[in-house]
Amino acid sequence: MDRTAERIRLLPKYLFAEIDKKIREAQAKGVDVIKLGIGDPDMPTPDYIVKKMQEEVARPENQCYPPDEGVKEFREAIADYYRQRFGVKLDPQKEVLPLLGSKEGIAHISACFVNPGDVNLVPDPGYPVYSIGTLFAGGAPQLMPLKRDNDFLPEFHNIPAEAARRAKLMFLNYPNNPTGAVATKEFMEEAVSYADDNNLIICHDAAYNELAFEDYKPMSILEVKGAKELAIEFGSLSKTFNMTGWRIGYAVGNPLAVEALYRFKTNIDSGLFKAIQFAGVEALTSPHTESFIEELRTIYQGRRDVVVKALQEAGWPLEAPKATFYVWAPVPAGFTSQEFVSYLLEETGVVVTPGRGFGKHGEGFFRIALTVNKERMQEAMERIKNTVRYA
Ligand SMILES: *Cc1c(COP(=O)(O)O)cnc(C)c1O
Repeated sequence: MDRTAERIRLLPKYLFAEIDKKIREAQAKGVDVIKLGIGDPDMPTPDYIVKKMQEEVARPENQCYPPDEGVKEFREAIADYYRQRFGVKLDPQKEVLPLLGSKEGIAHISACFVNPGDVNLVPDPGYPVYSIGTLFAGGAPQLMPLKRDNDFLPEFHNIPAEAARRAKLMFLNYPNNPTGAVATKEFMEEAVSYADDNNLIICHDAAYNELAFEDYKPMSILEVKGAKELAIEFGSLSKTFNMTGWRIGYAVGNPLAVEALYRFKTNIDSGLFKAIQFAGVEALTSPHTESFIEELRTIYQGRRDVVVKALQEAGWPLEAPKATFYVWAPVPAGFTSQEFVSYLLEETGVVVTPGRGFGKHGEGFFRIALTVNKERMQEAMERIKNTVRYA
C-alpha cells in the first residue's frame, strides 16, 4: 500500500532514469562517456574562499546555531555587492536574507504566498523547482511558453486573463536555464509593469547573473523603477564561485516578501553554517574575485565557442548564447528530444539533456552543459559532428 501523501505522488516521474541506465550500460561496455548533462561546474572553488572557510570552521564561535536572519557581515556584503554591481540600494536588515542555496528559497517562496487554488505563472521550459514549489503549496502552475521566435521570453499578452487574475507569483529567470537566453531592459520593465497591473509578485531567479560573455552584463530586476515594491530576486554563489556543494545563496528585494520567507524558514531550518556565511563574505568582497570571475567567463566562453562552431559546421542553425554555461539547440527532424539524447549516447557516448526534462515546451530541443574542459568538449563535439547532421 502506498501511504505517501499526494504531494509526493504528484511529483513527475524521474525523466532521466532511462538515460542514467544507458550511461551505466555504456560504461560497463567500456565506452568513454562524456557527460554534458548536468549543470554542475567541473572546476574547484577558488583557493582564497576555501582558505577562509578553513579558518572560519576552526573558530568555536562559528560552531553554534547561526542567527535566523543570517550573519550581519554576509547580509551587508550582499547589499554592498548589489550597490556596486547593479546600483541597487538594499537595507541589509530588511531586504536581504541568506539561503541554503537559492533553490531552497525558490522552493519555499510559494509556501509563503500561495493558498490552495491559487496560480503561479511559470516559464516553460524552466528550472523544475518553480512548478514543484507551486504544487507543494497547493497551487497550480500556469505555464508561460518560452519560444525561440520570441527569444525565449514569455509573452504576457498571451497569459489568459483568468489565470492572471488568480495568479500570485510570476517566476522569471534571466540569464535563463536551460535556453541560455538573456532579457533586455525593456523586457524587465514590461514584466514589472505587468506584475503591477495584475497584483503579482515577481520571483526572479538570478543564478547566472555573473556568467555572461563579451560585453553583455546581466541586470538585476531590482534596477527597474518600482521593482522593489513587487519583486524578490534569488541569487546564488553556486555557479559564480563553483560552490554548488556548499549550499549558499540569498534572497533580496521586497521587504514583505523577504520577511515572509524569513518567517517560513525560521520554522523549517536553522540557517547556514556561520563559517560558510563568512566564506560567502570572502567570495563577495575579496580583491581576488574580479579576476577570478573574469577568468571563469573566459573559460566558459572558450568551451561555448567550441560547441557552437561544431554544431554550426554540422548544419545547426544556432547563435552563441550571451550568458550561462548552456547551449540550447534544436533536435534534428525525426527524433523526440529523449530519442535524440538516447541516440547520441548510443552512437557517440556523449550525454546531453533532453529539452522535455524542462517542461513540455522544451520538447524539440536538447541542452549541452559546458562543464567539462575544452579538450573533452572538443572530443565530444568531434564525435557528434562525425555522427549527425542537423536536418
Ligand atoms: C543552479 C540553479 C539554481 C541554484 O542553485 P543553488 O545551488 O540552490 O543556489 C537556481 N536556479 C537555476 C535556474 C539554476 O540553474
